Amino acid sequence: MQYSGKPRILILGGNFAGLTTARFIREQCGKDVNITVIDRKPYLLFVPNIPIEVFANRNPQNALHMPIEHVLFDDGIDFIQAEVKAIDVETSQVEYVSVERPGSSLEHIEYDYLVVALGARLAYDKIEGFGEYGSTLSDTYYGNRLRRYLHEGGYKGGPIVIGSSRFHQGTKGKPDWLPNALAACEGPPLEIGLSLGAWLEDHKLGGPNKITLFTPAPVIAEDAGEEIVAKFLEMAGNMGYNYVNKTEDIKRLTADGIEFTNGKSLEAEIKIVLPDWQPHSFMKDLPIVDEEGFVITDLTMRNPDYPRIFAAGDAAALTVPKLGTLGDMQARIVALQIAKDLGKVSAEKADEPFRPTVICMGDMGRDKGFYIHSDVWYGGKTSIMKMGHMIFALKLAFKEMYYRTGGKPSRWGLPLTELLIEHLT
Ligand SMILES: Cc1cc2nc3c(=O)[nH]c(=O)nc-3n(C[C@H](O)[C@H](O)[C@H](O)COP(=O)(O)OP(=O)(O)OC[C@H]3O[C@@H](n4cnc5c(N)ncnc54)[C@H](O)[C@@H]3O)c2cc1C
Repeated sequence: MQYSGKPRILILGGNFAGLTTARFIREQCGKDVNITVIDRKPYLLFVPNIPIEVFANRNPQNALHMPIEHVLFDDGIDFIQAEVKAIDVETSQVEYVSVERPGSSLEHIEYDYLVVALGARLAYDKIEGFGEYGSTLSDTYYGNRLRRYLHEGGYKGGPIVIGSSRFHQGTKGKPDWLPNALAACEGPPLEIGLSLGAWLEDHKLGGPNKITLFTPAPVIAEDAGEEIVAKFLEMAGNMGYNYVNKTEDIKRLTADGIEFTNGKSLEAEIKIVLPDWQPHSFMKDLPIVDEEGFVITDLTMRNPDYPRIFAAGDAAALTVPKLGTLGDMQARIVALQIAKDLGKVSAEKADEPFRPTVICMGDMGRDKGFYIHSDVWYGGKTSIMKMGHMIFALKLAFKEMYYRTGGKPSRWGLPLTELLIEHLT
């Protein structure tokens, strides 16, 4: 394709997947492209560390909003703080409304390449009773609400449930090797459960036996692979945790507990819930998405029908479970693909396909962490689980490196972390 000026690359979303994609495209393509990022907020929300801040009685709003405007500016990337309203894939335009002040009018922007990195909407509004009776740790607002309840004397010592709503994964364009997940992301319930169990003991408020972990699936965190899940469940059972599977979905939360669609219910004072990850409503019915609204791509993260449209992160249909580390792998692939199209890198270098592997570092409380590295769910053979203080330290260190590099941890950052954990712990 010939361009009259510099190719215009538009990236929708500036959190993990969007920010990483933007910065790697600049690295691969140099100054020969115009890059614009649109996000409704001018900061990156560092979601994975919310539980650590909350259990340490620190307001997560203070430490986990990383400003992105200057990082993008330093890389010569334009930033528009706006709400994306619509994508027109036929005319290559995106509609948006600036959100800096209310009352702005609708505008549009054209692109030569589009990267959809808008994540998903976490559908708490679909859980009856969540606003009044629910708790969660997926953003700093809700995190701070639970922090205050726990640390400021709200907790009366009652039972606690932690688990997920049913996730609805699309099937259109799904490769055979990609399993069907019944929960979007079950690392968080595990880490919240372990951390909260330790927190209860440390505060002389009980222990793991007050906590029930639940899952809509036959087993919790099944994407970690059978062997790891079996070890985890044995350990959790020995520590006193209760466990309920095959809940199907959450029917409602009440003052006294949680009701599931399989007809069962549990008594609970605190209901910590991870919801369904749903695509944004304007994504549904676009010709680039599956029947749920996640963007269909091939293994180079390119939409097969609209080859100048890519997706990375939670918005992509291939991202299952919804894990930031998968989005990071995809962001690097997208950057190489666009660089290949523009003649900046060879096909040989760019065309390495997406090979998912679950990498998850979770908090366990008392400055310990767990680490899971597994691809058995996708048909591979890697299955590693480790626990210890060093993993906790590396989880904190990764966040520091992420902040210091403005969301572009060096190429060796993640592999080095893996190497250290897998060989030195
Ligand atoms: C408690 C918890 C712990 C987790 N821990 C881990 C972990 O240890 N490791 C891991 O790999 N993953 C973890 N995850 C998952 C991880 O947080 C997500 O996979 C990751 O945030 C996805 O990144 P993303 O950029 O694709 O989407 P998001 O982070 O959701 O970002 C999407 C961006 O798009 C913007 N946006 C959305 N809609 C619009 C719109 N209409 N207009 C303008 N902007 C818009 C949003 O403001 C946001 O900045 C955890 C998740 C939770 C909830």
